[in-house]
This record gives sequence, structure tokens and C-alpha cells, in this order.
Amino acid sequence: MNTGADLDRLVRAALDAARVAPATGDVPIGAVVFGPDGEPLAAACNAREALGDPTAHAEVIALRAAAAVHGDGWRLTGCTLAVTVEPCTMCAGAAVLARVARVVFGAWEPKTGAVGSLWDVVRDRRLGHRPEVVGGVLEAECAALVAEFFAAKR
Ligand SMILES: [Zn+2]
Repeated sequence: MNTGADLDRLVRAALDAARVAPATGDVPIGAVVFGPDGEPLAAACNAREALGDPTAHAEVIALRAAAAVHGDGWRLTGCTLAVTVEPCTMCAGAAVLARVARVVFGAWEPKTGAVGSLWDVVRDRRLGHRPEVVGGVLEAECAALVAEFFAAKR
């Protein structure tokens, strides 16, 4: 299951979610949670501006929606969180708390990344649950989407 083609498929779905960013000036970052069978459970785009909610990052919205349909309470055991940009501390923490098996992301985020760049929240040895991590999948495409957004704002 951990083939390059499969990882590309996961991040491509997150890119699709990012591309439907609300027209409210939200940074186009997308996330999709996949069930243990590899089928998507929920997808979301960052909607911090749209919702006026500091916690409305794509990952948090997708994790909440996925838990609602997954059928094991708040647990997302065996699931994969795919996201276009390396998660921040909040989202990395949410992924750990949701017990996802794997975090797959596109672009590294050296300024705020908490899955290996600035911090490594998900693989802290002090934690009881540590998801597997794959970063840099479709990295150029994921980084370009955000770069184009900020270039257009200028
Ligand atoms: Zn976040």
C-alpha cells in the first residue's frame, strides 16, 4: 500500500480539496482522511477566514468530519491523513489525538511545520501513539499552489 503511486493518489486528493478554497482569502491548503481500506472518509479546505475560526485548518475540519462517519467514536485508528502542506503544531497534535496511522503531506513548511521541520510533534518518543510520516509527496505541486495564492495577493 505504501507505493509511490498510492502516496501520490492520497496527496492528489488533498490538492483537489485545496483547489476549492473558499473565495474568502483562505490559503489553499487541503486535507483528506482515508479509511483503513484506502477510501476517502472526508475532505476539507482551510477555512479559517471563511468561518472566522482560528482552528479551522483543513486537517482539523477533515479529522472532525472523518470521525463522524468512521464509526469508532473519535478514533481514526488505521486511517491516513493526507495534506498538501506540512501540518502545524495544532494539526499535528490533532492527528496524534485522533490516532491516525499515517500522516502524508506534500510541501515542507519550514516556518511552522510540526511534522519534522520546526518540531516533530507526531514522532515524539514520549508519546504513546506515533503515526508513520511520509513528507514531500508531490512537493512541487503542493508548494506551487500556495505560492501562486500569495503571488496573486501581492
Ligand atoms: Zn494546522
